[in-house]
Amino acid sequence: MFRRLRFLKVPVLKSTRCPEGGAVVAKCDRKPLASFRTSSVQMAKSKFEYVRNFETDDTCLRNCYIVVRLDGRNFHKFAETHDFAKPNDDRALGLMTRSARSVMEELDDIVIAYGQSDEFSFVFKRSSNWFKRRASKLMTHVASQFSSSYVFFWKDHFADRPLLYPPGFDGRVVLYPSNQNLRDYLSWRQADCHINNLYNTVFWRLVQKGGLSTVQAEDRLKGTLAADKNEILFSEFDINYNNEPLVHRKGTALVWEKADETTTKQVRVLNEEKEVTVTKSRKRVSAHHCDLIGSRSGRSTPTS
Ligand SMILES: [Mg+2]
Repeated sequence: MFRRLRFLKVPVLKSTRCPEGGAVVAKCDRKPLASFRTSSVQMAKSKFEYVRNFETDDTCLRNCYIVVRLDGRNFHKFAETHDFAKPNDDRALGLMTRSARSVMEELDDIVIAYGQSDEFSFVFKRSSNWFKRRASKLMTHVASQFSSSYVFFWKDHFADRPLLYPPGFDGRVVLYPSNQNLRDYLSWRQADCHINNLYNTVFWRLVQKGGLSTVQAEDRLKGTLAADKNEILFSEFDINYNNEPLVHRKGTALVWEKADETTTKQVRVLNEEKEVTVTKSRKRVSAHHCDLIGSRSGRSTPTS
């Protein structure tokens, strides 16, 4: 029986090049059934198995904080196309925060996130062993969860503005071995928020209220220090920069906090329906617009 099978002919498709156009065309050929089966199983197990070795080990060093930072791809154009308000669009900032909240809620082991403008950083706890600490797995999960949330929740923040094309975010992974390094990292991102926001606030005042073109406003601000910019805002536009919204000046930090949740329940006691209140302590993500620089514990009142 087996000997007979060996000589059974079955049609198989074979690819070959078309002499004129170089296109691949299928050609019918015949091959012994038994030998075809045997060799394909062997190849799957042995011949192709070696390609696994091309994967590089990207395990993050133990005992370090893993930080994944996302940044909007070409968001200058994206903001223009979708008419973002200048210098800050609260709908867009709210959407970034909503997407970051989704990342924290859906993925494991993120202890704090900090965002400003079109970027967000996510800090995994030092002991995290999620996806065996593989950098590519962590980064791609964060980036894809954030991007899909950004699109999913768009309509909640831009009710009257359709999303015109899919936005993208790049990601990177950085490891920080000490608490001080992590604090300095977060402070660095917040300093960036402050520098950019102060510049943008003055720049757009000069354009929107001061009648300057964007080129003239850029020239006017060339070489100025923070004190000069504060002075322009105060003396020419009656604005005290310190009174500008915290969310614009400080960015947004997301942390896990315990909060009591009270619900009512119907219970039956001695054949009588009664309503009782039940209070449970739950962990939830809360947003803070606080000073991370030079502050060990200082957190402002939660805003959401
Ligand atoms: Mg950016």
